[in-house]
Amino acid sequence: MLMPTRTPVIRNAMTIDVEDYFQVSAFAPYIARDDWDRRECRVEHNMARILALLEERQVKATFFTLGWIAERYPQLVRQIVEQGHELASHGYGHQRASELSREAFADDIGRAKQLLEDLSGQAVLGYRAPSFSIGEGNLWAFDVLREAGYRYSSSVYPIAHDHYGMPDSPRFAYPVREGLLEVPVTTLRAFNRNFPSSGGGYFRLLPYALSRWMIRQVNAVDQQSAVFYFHPWEIDSEQPRIPGIDGKTRFRHYVNIPRTHGRIAQLLSDFAWGRMDEIFLGAQARARA
Ligand SMILES: [Zn+2]
Repeated sequence: MLMPTRTPVIRNAMTIDVEDYFQVSAFAPYIARDDWDRRECRVEHNMARILALLEERQVKATFFTLGWIAERYPQLVRQIVEQGHELASHGYGHQRASELSREAFADDIGRAKQLLEDLSGQAVLGYRAPSFSIGEGNLWAFDVLREAGYRYSSSVYPIAHDHYGMPDSPRFAYPVREGLLEVPVTTLRAFNRNFPSSGGGYFRLLPYALSRWMIRQVNAVDQQSAVFYFHPWEIDSEQPRIPGIDGKTRFRHYVNIPRTHGRIAQLLSDFAWGRMDEIFLGAQARARA
């Protein structure tokens, strides 16, 4: 008898943070914000590849879209919703929430929500902070998100990392305020610590089989949906190289980019996927009813 090769029962959330390579937080010391408009934009080309792959595999995903991108490429927003994906917010200007005042954060997330809703004609319920920048020092951000009408956030990374993370926070979706759910990206619990197992640089760095094993563990042992994330620039081998950056930033940004499109295609085959709102707000609504 053939052994089952996938976990069909639990659906995982596929998420994409829609931003361009020059907007990455780690590049902020090297690329002035005023320079963004003069950079070669790659996001349209990369989004076309992502949307085609998802269409081919019949997967619906959640796109945390930067307001700055939506304003300049409104057709991307329309394509996301026309293909049946969830449009969510990555804020407007990709500043870390931890570096903004409460007022500036409220402006940023409110502006992005309004813009995305005007362009799409749909309610925007989800938000992900740039670089998972909600943590111990700015928990007020959840109050601001709730006031702005968001229903869920995916902004806390329960790991220890030099740029972000709140290692002691819950690993799975939990109500963080009345009417607001925090849905952390996925970690694997082992040896008394949390290991990142849900995308970004770690997914590019680690062997694919290990990433797949970690998601299977979360599905089988924790009996929870995983939340996976990637960026359009992570599948783009032809993006312009940023000169003069330090070795660690260079390694983290460029490692295994040529392999990533193929790995994501494999991931789409190896698991069942869906949108954040359907997986997490749907379950929450059912639990209430
Ligand atoms: Zn981002």
